[in-house]
Amino acid sequence: MDRRSFLRRMTAGAALAGVLTRSEIPLRAAAAAASDDAPAGAEGGGDESLRITRVRTILTQPQGIRLAIVKVETSEPGLYGLGCATFTQRIRAVETAVDRYLDPFLRGKDPANIEDLWQAMFQSSYWRNGPVLMNALSGVDMALWDILGKRFGMPVYSLLGGKCRIACPVYGHAGGSTAEEAVRSIQRYLAEGYRYVRCQVGVRGQSVYGPQSGAAKLREGHFSGRVFQPSAYLRAVPRVFAGVREALGDDVELLHDIHERLHPIQAIQLAKELEPHRLFFLEDPFAPEDVGYFQHLRAQSSTPIAMGELFNNPCEYVDIIAGRLIDFIRCHLSQIGGISMAKKLAHLCDFFRVRTAWHGPGDVSPVGHAANLHVDLATWNFGVQESYRFSDATREVFPGAPEIRDGMLWVNEAPGLGVDIDETLAARYPITDDPPFDMHWGELRDIDGTIRRP
Ligand SMILES: [Mg+2]
Repeated sequence: MDRRSFLRRMTAGAALAGVLTRSEIPLRAAAAAASDDAPAGAEGGGDESLRITRVRTILTQPQGIRLAIVKVETSEPGLYGLGCATFTQRIRAVETAVDRYLDPFLRGKDPANIEDLWQAMFQSSYWRNGPVLMNALSGVDMALWDILGKRFGMPVYSLLGGKCRIACPVYGHAGGSTAEEAVRSIQRYLAEGYRYVRCQVGVRGQSVYGPQSGAAKLREGHFSGRVFQPSAYLRAVPRVFAGVREALGDDVELLHDIHERLHPIQAIQLAKELEPHRLFFLEDPFAPEDVGYFQHLRAQSSTPIAMGELFNNPCEYVDIIAGRLIDFIRCHLSQIGGISMAKKLAHLCDFFRVRTAWHGPGDVSPVGHAANLHVDLATWNFGVQESYRFSDATREVFPGAPEIRDGMLWVNEAPGLGVDIDETLAARYPITDDPPFDMHWGELRDIDGTIRRP
C-alpha cells in the first residue's frame, strides 16, 4: 500500500471511529502531505496544497496575568494552530518577535515540517536563544504540532508516541508561616484528592516566595520595601517542615521551592537539614549562573533536586543531567523551544533517570498547560506536573483548557492540543501597559538595600 492510500484509509477509519470531533480532516490535504517526500519547508519543498498564511500574537489577561498566544493560520480554511509564547514580563518584545520577524519568515512554508521550521527559526536571528526569541519560536512550534494533530485527527500526545498514563498527577501550592498554618493549607489540597503539595514557608515581615507575608520595616533605618533576609528564611523552613511531616505523616509528597534565593552554601545546608523530612523534591537551590554548585550539593545530600524553570538553552542543562546531578527537570516549555525541544529533553533525561516536572504557573496560558500535559502523557519518565487553577473567565476565553480532577490533570481527546481561543472574548481582557510589566520582579532587597534574586 502506498503512503497516499494508507493515509486515506487511516483518516477514513478515524472518522468512522468518531475521532474527528473538532473538524473534518481534509483528505486531500492529508494525502497530499503524505505524497511529499521533500524534507524542507524551504522554497521548492513541502506540501503544495497547504501553506502558512499568517502568524500573529493574541494578547489577553482574563485572570490578570498577561498571556501571549501565537496563532498560525494556514491556506486550509479553518485550519490553524495555537501555541503559548507567554514571557509575561516582556510580552511586547515577544509580540514584536512574532509579528514583525517570524510572520514574514514563515509565510508560504509547509506547517508539517516542524523540525525543519524549528531549526530555520532558530538560525534566522543569527544570535540565538534568549527568552524573547525562544518564547516566540516556542509559540509557533506548539501551534505547528496543534495543526498537525488537527490535520490527522489525533491528539498531540498520540503524535508523540501515545499515552504512558491515564492522566498526570499535579501538585498544588500551599504554605504558611507556622507548621499549623502550613498543615491547614496542605489539608485543603488533600481533601481535593491531591497527593503532591508544594509547601512554601512565610517569615514574619519578609517578602518570601509563596505565602503572602507582606513587606514590613524590620527595624528603624532598614530598607522598608520588599525585604528578604536569606538567613531568617533558612532557619524557618526546617522548623515548619518538621511540624508538617509530624502532623501529616508520610502519605503526602511534599515539595519546596528555594527560588534561587539563598546563597549557594546555604542551599546546601537546607538540603541537608530537610533530608529527614523526605521531600519529593527541593526546587531551584541555585541560580542558573551557579550550576557549578550541584556537584557539591550532590556529594552531601540525598534530598531529591529539581531545577530548570529559568533554563533557556542546552548549555545550561545538558551537563547537570548527564552528570546525574538533578532528579527532576523543571523547564518552562516556551523558554526552551516548545514541544519539539521538550520531547528531546525528556528523552535525554530518560537515559539518566531524571524525571520531568515542567513549569506550570499562572503565566503559562491554558494552551501552554495543554502542551505540558500532552508531553507529560507521552513521557515514560514523567515525575509530576505543576498545576494552576483557571478562573471561569479564563475557561471561557480558552475552551477545552485541561481540567484538574482528583489531583490529576486531564486532557480532552480533541485533535491537536485540544484548546481553542475565543478571540472576541479574549479582546474583553486587553493587556495593560501601565505599568509596563509586573513590577514585583526586580524590587526584592535585603534589609541593607542589596538587591536579591526574585
Ligand atoms: Mg519554581
